[in-house]
Amino acid sequence: MEITFLGTSSGVPTRARNVSSVALRLPQKAEVWLFDCGEGTQHQLLRSEIKSSQIRRIFVTHMHGDHIFGLMGAIASSGLAGNAQKIDVYGPAGLAEYLQACAKYSYMRLGSRLRVHTVQPGLVYEEAEFSVHCQLLKHRVPAYGYRVIEKDRPGRFDIEKAQALNIPPGPIYGKLKQGATVTLENGRIINGKELCGEPEIGRKVVYCTDTVFCDAAVDLAHDADVLIHEATFAHQDAEMAFERLHSTSTMAAQVALLAGVKQLIMTHFSPRYAPGNNLQLSDLKQEARAIFPNTKLAYDFFAYQVPRRR
Ligand SMILES: [Zn+2]
Ligand SMILES: [Zn+2]
Repeated sequence: MEITFLGTSSGVPTRARNVSSVALRLPQKAEVWLFDCGEGTQHQLLRSEIKSSQIRRIFVTHMHGDHIFGLMGAIASSGLAGNAQKIDVYGPAGLAEYLQACAKYSYMRLGSRLRVHTVQPGLVYEEAEFSVHCQLLKHRVPAYGYRVIEKDRPGRFDIEKAQALNIPPGPIYGKLKQGATVTLENGRIINGKELCGEPEIGRKVVYCTDTVFCDAAVDLAHDADVLIHEATFAHQDAEMAFERLHSTSTMAAQVALLAGVKQLIMTHFSPRYAPGNNLQLSDLKQEARAIFPNTKLAYDFFAYQVPRRR
């Protein structure tokens, strides 16, 4: 699992930072999932190590332009590249109508390649290896945070031990490998877990933007390996954060601390903290680290490999 930040500025792009988009690479599936797709995301993809032909799912937090204006371009380009892969897009109410209207008036045929799903708090998507859940955050328009869960995997199967127990080979081994308990033909009961090593704990990646501090973010981020949380403002500008329903660096750090996450990565920075301002992004980092030391600041093309728990 590798996270790549494709845009880390809030509202408008700057020379160094594009607007919001995060790519999650799932090498075991050769798939990329995008979270938000601000304007220019397809250009950022071209400049990154990510293959846009691998984009399989796009999760949209909310309908503000800095999170969605890149969708049509990215979707259209992936079609032009002769990529026959389907894309599933998930997001709040209004997203499907927005995409349909854009396609209609630009004479673009979305066909059956694109499926749009309106999300509700709770389970958004599930498959054998992963599930995705969302929660409503606290922003000026409905905004969802997402939690990606890699399912736990049973540990290594001890085939020698299974053979020593005279378990006849066959499909039964597949069940035992999954840690299931099976009954053999002769009535013997075998617990697969006893033939497997320590299970591999799945990783959890949580993405919370845009939002002011809220309990829903803390819930969603519980025990995450990585929390990506917006930090539009410095602590000193908290008044603006409350007014516009965005977070300060200290709010992001408090969510990380209360949720007991392993790593906080802050993003969605206001362009105001550019060189020349008396507050800089390094100050936001310091403010957050005073509360939650394991904090990093995202920058465009920053890639983070999510470590496994051992
Ligand atoms: Zn935003
Ligand atoms: Zn917003």
